[in-house]
Amino acid sequence: MSKRGKNELVQRQACRFNDKNCSSNELTTSAVLVNAIGVTQSREQTILRRCVFFDRDGVVNLSPGSGYVTDVAEFSLHDGVGEVLQIAHDRDWLAIIVSSQRCVAKGLIDLEGLERIHRLMQIQLMDRYGSKFDAIYVYTGQPGTEQWEKPRPGMIHQACKDYAIDPGKSILIGDQDRDIEMAISAGIGQTIRVLTSLGNQENKVVANQTVQSIGEMVAAVRELL
Ligand SMILES: [Mg+2]
Repeated sequence: MSKRGKNELVQRQACRFNDKNCSSNELTTSAVLVNAIGVTQSREQTILRRCVFFDRDGVVNLSPGSGYVTDVAEFSLHDGVGEVLQIAHDRDWLAIIVSSQRCVAKGLIDLEGLERIHRLMQIQLMDRYGSKFDAIYVYTGQPGTEQWEKPRPGMIHQACKDYAIDPGKSILIGDQDRDIEMAISAGIGQTIRVLTSLGNQENKVVANQTVQSIGEMVAAVRELL
Protein backbone atom coordinates (compact mmCIF):
# COMPACT_ATOMS: atom_id res chain seq x y z
CA MET A 1 0.00 0.00 0.00
CA SER A 2 1.29 3.50 -0.84
CA LYS A 3 2.19 5.94 1.97
CA ARG A 4 -0.79 8.10 1.06
CA GLY A 5 -3.09 5.09 1.10
CA LYS A 6 -1.79 4.10 4.53
CA ASN A 7 -2.37 7.60 5.90
CA GLU A 8 -5.92 7.59 4.59
CA LEU A 9 -6.53 4.21 6.25
CA VAL A 10 -5.12 5.54 9.54
CA GLN A 11 -7.36 8.61 9.29
CA ARG A 12 -10.44 6.46 8.69
CA GLN A 13 -9.61 4.13 11.57
CA ALA A 14 -8.80 7.00 13.93
CA CYS A 15 -12.10 8.60 13.10
CA ARG A 16 -14.05 5.40 13.54
CA PHE A 17 -12.59 4.71 16.99
CA ASN A 18 -13.32 8.24 18.19
CA ASP A 19 -16.73 9.22 16.97
CA LYS A 20 -18.95 8.26 14.07
CA ASN A 21 -19.81 11.91 13.44
CA CYS A 22 -16.41 13.43 14.01
CA SER A 23 -15.65 16.71 12.29
CA SER A 24 -12.83 17.14 9.79
CA ASN A 25 -10.87 18.90 12.57
CA GLU A 26 -11.09 15.94 14.90
CA LEU A 27 -10.22 13.60 12.06
CA THR A 28 -7.03 15.56 11.29
CA THR A 29 -6.01 15.72 14.95
CA SER A 30 -6.46 11.97 15.42
CA ALA A 31 -4.55 11.16 12.26
CA VAL A 32 -1.64 13.43 13.21
CA LEU A 33 -1.51 11.86 16.67
CA VAL A 34 -1.33 8.33 15.27
CA ASN A 35 1.32 9.29 12.73
CA ALA A 36 3.30 11.26 15.32
CA ILE A 37 3.50 8.20 17.58
CA GLY A 38 4.90 6.18 14.69
CA VAL A 39 7.56 8.80 13.90
CA THR A 40 8.60 9.18 17.55
CA GLN A 41 9.05 5.45 18.01
CA SER A 42 11.30 5.06 14.96
CA ARG A 43 13.35 8.15 15.95
CA GLU A 44 14.00 6.84 19.46
CA GLN A 45 15.40 3.66 17.98
CA THR A 46 17.88 5.35 15.63
CA ILE A 47 18.94 8.79 16.91
CA LEU A 48 22.15 8.89 18.96
CA ARG A 49 23.13 11.71 21.34
CA ARG A 50 25.80 14.30 20.66
CA CYS A 51 28.44 15.03 23.26
CA VAL A 52 31.10 17.57 24.14
CA PHE A 53 34.03 15.56 25.53
CA PHE A 54 36.43 17.48 27.78
CA ASP A 55 39.96 16.71 28.81
CA ARG A 56 40.24 17.78 32.48
CA ASP A 57 43.56 19.40 33.47
CA GLY A 58 44.25 22.51 31.37
CA VAL A 59 40.70 22.60 29.99
CA VAL A 60 38.20 22.21 32.84
CA ASN A 61 40.64 23.39 35.51
CA LEU A 62 43.96 25.17 35.73
CA SER A 63 46.74 22.83 34.55
CA PRO A 64 49.03 21.55 37.31
CA GLY A 65 51.87 21.56 34.73
CA SER A 66 53.89 18.36 34.72
CA GLY A 67 52.44 17.34 38.11
CA TYR A 68 48.98 16.32 39.30
CA VAL A 69 46.10 17.78 41.22
CA THR A 70 46.16 15.62 44.36
CA ASP A 71 44.09 17.72 46.75
CA VAL A 72 40.80 19.65 46.51
CA ALA A 73 42.68 22.83 47.52
CA GLU A 74 44.76 22.57 44.31
CA PHE A 75 41.74 22.29 42.02
CA SER A 76 40.91 25.59 40.32
CA LEU A 77 37.97 25.59 37.92
CA HIS A 78 38.21 27.61 34.70
CA ASP A 79 35.34 30.11 34.62
CA GLY A 80 34.10 29.55 31.05
CA VAL A 81 33.58 25.81 31.48
CA GLY A 82 30.23 26.26 33.23
CA GLU A 83 29.09 28.40 30.32
CA VAL A 84 29.98 25.62 27.86
CA LEU A 85 27.98 23.17 30.01
CA GLN A 86 24.96 25.50 29.93
CA ILE A 87 25.18 25.84 26.13
CA ALA A 88 25.57 22.06 25.69
CA HIS A 89 22.65 21.14 27.93
CA ASP A 90 20.41 23.88 26.51
CA ARG A 91 20.93 22.31 23.08
CA ASP A 92 20.49 18.74 24.33
CA TRP A 93 24.16 17.74 24.08
CA LEU A 94 25.87 15.66 26.75
CA ALA A 95 29.05 16.90 28.49
CA ILE A 96 31.56 14.25 29.59
CA ILE A 97 35.11 14.38 30.99
CA VAL A 98 37.73 11.93 29.72
CA SER A 99 40.81 12.34 31.89
CA SER A 100 44.15 10.65 32.59
CA GLN A 101 45.08 10.57 36.27
CA ARG A 102 48.07 8.28 36.58
CA CYS A 103 48.62 9.79 40.02
CA VAL A 104 46.32 7.04 41.34
CA ALA A 105 48.60 4.20 40.15
CA LYS A 106 51.61 6.20 41.36
CA GLY A 107 50.14 6.29 44.86
CA LEU A 108 49.92 10.11 45.00
CA ILE A 109 46.15 10.02 45.58
CA ASP A 110 43.62 7.23 46.12
CA LEU A 111 40.28 6.79 44.35
CA GLU A 112 38.42 8.36 47.28
CA GLY A 113 40.62 11.46 47.01
CA LEU A 114 39.95 11.68 43.28
CA GLU A 115 36.24 11.29 43.91
CA ARG A 116 36.38 14.14 46.47
CA ILE A 117 37.93 16.47 43.86
CA HIS A 118 35.26 15.57 41.29
CA ARG A 119 32.45 15.95 43.81
CA LEU A 120 33.72 19.44 44.69
CA MET A 121 33.95 20.30 40.98
CA GLN A 122 30.36 19.21 40.34
CA ILE A 123 29.10 21.14 43.38
CA GLN A 124 30.94 24.31 42.27
CA LEU A 125 29.51 23.99 38.75
CA MET A 126 25.96 23.46 40.02
CA ASP A 127 26.25 26.37 42.48
CA ARG A 128 27.65 28.81 39.91
CA TYR A 129 26.01 27.67 36.66
CA GLY A 130 23.21 25.25 37.51
CA SER A 131 24.85 22.64 35.26
CA LYS A 132 27.37 19.85 35.77
CA PHE A 133 29.10 17.07 33.82
CA ASP A 134 26.94 14.10 32.85
CA ALA A 135 29.80 11.64 33.44
CA ILE A 136 33.50 11.48 34.25
CA TYR A 137 35.74 8.75 32.82
CA VAL A 138 39.24 8.46 34.28
CA TYR A 139 42.26 6.40 33.28
CA THR A 140 44.09 5.78 36.55
CA GLY A 141 47.12 3.88 35.25
CA GLN A 142 46.15 0.75 37.18
CA PRO A 143 46.86 -2.68 35.61
CA GLY A 144 44.12 -3.94 33.32
CA THR A 145 42.92 -0.48 32.25
CA GLU A 146 45.39 0.03 29.39
CA GLN A 147 42.65 0.38 26.76
CA TRP A 148 41.64 3.65 28.44
CA GLU A 149 45.15 5.11 28.22
CA LYS A 150 45.35 8.13 25.91
CA PRO A 151 45.80 8.33 22.96
CA ARG A 152 43.86 5.03 22.78
CA PRO A 153 40.14 5.67 22.21
CA GLY A 154 38.90 3.31 24.98
CA MET A 155 37.35 5.96 27.26
CA ILE A 156 35.42 7.55 24.40
CA HIS A 157 34.31 4.15 23.08
CA GLN A 158 32.99 3.24 26.54
CA ALA A 159 31.17 6.57 26.96
CA CYS A 160 29.60 6.25 23.49
CA LYS A 161 28.37 2.78 24.41
CA ASP A 162 27.09 3.80 27.87
CA TYR A 163 25.29 6.95 26.70
CA ALA A 164 24.36 6.04 23.07
CA ILE A 165 26.55 8.80 21.63
CA ASP A 166 27.37 9.35 17.95
CA PRO A 167 31.13 10.14 17.97
CA GLY A 168 31.01 11.58 14.44
CA LYS A 169 28.58 14.30 15.59
CA SER A 170 30.49 14.99 18.81
CA ILE A 171 33.27 17.37 19.85
CA LEU A 172 36.40 16.99 21.97
CA ILE A 173 38.20 19.83 23.71
CA GLY A 174 41.75 19.11 24.83
CA ASP A 175 45.12 20.75 25.35
CA GLN A 176 47.60 17.98 24.57
CA ASP A 177 48.43 15.95 21.43
CA ARG A 178 47.26 12.75 23.12
CA ASP A 179 43.76 14.26 23.58
CA ILE A 180 43.42 15.20 19.92
CA GLU A 181 44.90 11.87 18.78
CA MET A 182 42.45 9.96 21.01
CA ALA A 183 39.54 11.93 19.52
CA ILE A 184 40.68 11.23 15.95
CA SER A 185 41.06 7.49 16.73
CA ALA A 186 37.54 7.43 18.19
CA GLY A 187 36.07 9.14 15.11
CA ILE A 188 35.10 12.37 16.91
CA GLY A 189 33.76 14.89 14.38
CA GLN A 190 35.39 18.08 15.64
CA THR A 191 38.40 18.75 17.84
CA ILE A 192 39.32 21.99 19.63
CA ARG A 193 42.74 22.54 21.15
CA VAL A 194 43.02 25.07 23.96
CA LEU A 195 46.45 26.60 24.42
CA THR A 196 46.11 27.38 28.11
CA SER A 197 48.95 25.26 29.46
CA LEU A 198 52.60 26.12 29.43
CA GLY A 199 54.53 23.53 27.46
CA ASN A 200 51.86 22.60 24.95
CA GLN A 201 52.79 25.20 22.34
CA GLU A 202 54.73 22.76 20.12
CA ASN A 203 52.12 20.29 18.99
CA LYS A 204 52.38 17.65 16.30
CA VAL A 205 48.76 16.52 16.00
CA VAL A 206 46.51 18.98 14.19
CA ALA A 207 43.13 19.83 15.71
CA ASN A 208 40.24 21.23 13.68
CA GLN A 209 40.47 24.47 15.66
CA THR A 210 43.03 25.97 18.01
CA VAL A 211 42.00 28.64 20.50
CA GLN A 212 44.18 30.78 22.75
CA SER A 213 41.98 31.09 25.83
CA ILE A 214 38.96 29.68 27.66
CA GLY A 215 36.95 32.67 26.40
CA GLU A 216 37.76 31.71 22.80
CA MET A 217 36.86 28.11 23.62
CA VAL A 218 33.38 29.20 24.76
CA ALA A 219 32.91 31.17 21.53
CA ALA A 220 34.09 28.22 19.39
CA VAL A 221 31.68 25.79 21.12
CA ARG A 222 28.79 28.28 20.82
CA GLU A 223 29.48 28.37 17.07
CA LEU A 224 29.58 24.58 16.68
CA LEU A 225 26.59 23.47 18.81
MG1 LIG B 1 45.17 18.30 29.76
